[in-house]
Amino acid sequence: MNNFLISLIGVGFFAIPCLILAISFGDTWKEKLFGSAVICVIWLTFAVGCAFGHDINAEKWNGGYCKCGTHWELKGVSQYRSSHTKYYACPNCYTEIEINN
Ligand SMILES: [Zn+2]
Repeated sequence: MNNFLISLIGVGFFAIPCLILAISFGDTWKEKLFGSAVICVIWLTFAVGCAFGHDINAEKWNGGYCKCGTHWELKGVSQYRSSHTKYYACPNCYTEIEINN
């Protein structure tokens, strides 16, 4: 829930100026309302996306330890444009995880 609030505020730095633009550029109340509704939906989608994406990585990473208590071992790194994926495996129970950042 904390992550969601942080994401909401973070995305808000972009969403709030857009919201102000939508309200000031709308000619009619319908346009103003529609414009702000669209921006609010995008804002929420991004905030949920950021918070949820962050949670998944943190949950998988589990502070650097597998559920069996063994430290993750780095198996490989792949890079696609600006996103990095790191592959970790547990040397004890062979669980594998992917961490995106
Ligand atoms: Zn394990």
